[in-house]
Amino acid sequence: MNEGLLFPPLPHRIESRAPAAARDISLQQFVRHATVTKDTGRVDACRAAFGERYDNLRRHAGAIKSHTLDHLDEYLERFEAAATRAGATVHWAADAASANRICLDIAKRINAKVCVKSKSMATEETRLLPELEAAGVKTIETDLGEFIVQLDGDAPSHIVTPMIHKNRASVARAFVRDLGAPYTEDPGELTMIARAHMRKLFERADLGISGGNFLIAETGSLVICTNEGNADLTVSLPPVHVALVGIEKLIPAMEHLPIFLKLLARSATAQPLTIYTTCVTGPARSAGQGSSADVDGPRELHIVLLDNGRSELLRAPTRELLRCIRCGACLNACPVYKAVGGGHAYGSVYSGPIGATITPHLKGLHNYPDLATASSLCGACFHACPVHIDLPAQLIALREEAARRHLNPAPERVTMKLWRWIMQSPARYRIASGLARFVLSRLDGVDIPLPGPLGAWTSCRTTPRPGAIDFRAWWNERQRTKANCGRPASDRGRA
Ligand code: SF4
Repeated sequence: MNEGLLFPPLPHRIESRAPAAARDISLQQFVRHATVTKDTGRVDACRAAFGERYDNLRRHAGAIKSHTLDHLDEYLERFEAAATRAGATVHWAADAASANRICLDIAKRINAKVCVKSKSMATEETRLLPELEAAGVKTIETDLGEFIVQLDGDAPSHIVTPMIHKNRASVARAFVRDLGAPYTEDPGELTMIARAHMRKLFERADLGISGGNFLIAETGSLVICTNEGNADLTVSLPPVHVALVGIEKLIPAMEHLPIFLKLLARSATAQPLTIYTTCVTGPARSAGQGSSADVDGPRELHIVLLDNGRSELLRAPTRELLRCIRCGACLNACPVYKAVGGGHAYGSVYSGPIGATITPHLKGLHNYPDLATASSLCGACFHACPVHIDLPAQLIALREEAARRHLNPAPERVTMKLWRWIMQSPARYRIASGLARFVLSRLDGVDIPLPGPLGAWTSCRTTPRPGAIDFRAWWNERQRTKANCGRPASDRGRA
């Protein structure tokens, strides 16, 4: 994988990558087409299924997650006890290094040579795959999108659809180059090529690794949702399975699961449900009194509960961020995510509005000082979020914090100070707006590239022409005319 895309040298500024992506027309088209299709599909699917009840449902889902997070310590212990009773081994990982160490120790103990892995943001976050490869464990991504990204030495660009930035032709080229397959752009044929290749690896694998969409505290179950069935094979074929899951994935009981399943699939891909929803409670059971042995399933099931900064997010102002179910809807709805050509510009495993909010908290605001500015604050992410996370408010709080710590650029600070000084006095505002009108009317719409940091503004914007009459004059005239019960002269001729 091109590690530098998700783990750039720090500090990382999105403005260092965004302009190149914004100029890449094909990239823009792939990302725009895929996100717009998913976003409109989500709106239609939610409207058709829930109608007016949708807002209540997502508030309800958010409340269940909030309740779980308010009592996270209790639910984690309850989960550990139930999973252990079911025969699984629960591990606790405070950070990425300890999570990877647990997985590598298991791989070494069973002398693993081939590992099949299903899609997992937590393993991307801990950079597990390169560590497995360095330890001599050949690891294959089995999610089709992740597999293609792996073949290309690329990095995922979306939390649900990792190859959102690629088209069929690039998949066809990768299969010819790495699998010796005949060139085809037919999606069905491409899928069958990948399937034939992966089946052999599934049969040889001695270790399976996955993430998890939900953990059920009541039963100690791991729930994985996929559309390809690769997670089912990853869990059931290799003799040992390790699931690396963030501690925020807990929900209290099985009765809560349907609410999240309904929202997750519709928000992610506009489906009523993901094609496969796998619920794993303990490893494969051997025959007991009155029950036969399970025909498949791992001999050993390990569940690694990953903290890696999440406990810090439990503080009140950021706790709601842990409600995220990683559906990707906020990415699809976000105009900035589209404009910067997908997730790579964010320089982080998590991209889009949720990435812009959690990354500075998990990795330090000083390391991602401008990520929270990657939003127009239009509110589309908030309306798309199935667990009602107020992402714009979180972004504003991060911007305030960056300004308070002087992490925003010096010219921005000076400009904002000047702006505040002008806005504090009507006289100063009148003089400044009059001056601006005078300068703009002299420029008369001619584009003049400004020097230095202001050049970024003028490089893609046309100098505005001031209106025929300024706002104050228009307003005063309007008030005068109203008083005389007539229509203002400047309004005449308007529809
Ligand atoms: S923040 Fe909300 S919309 Fe975005 S990925 Fe998380 S759950 Fe989905």
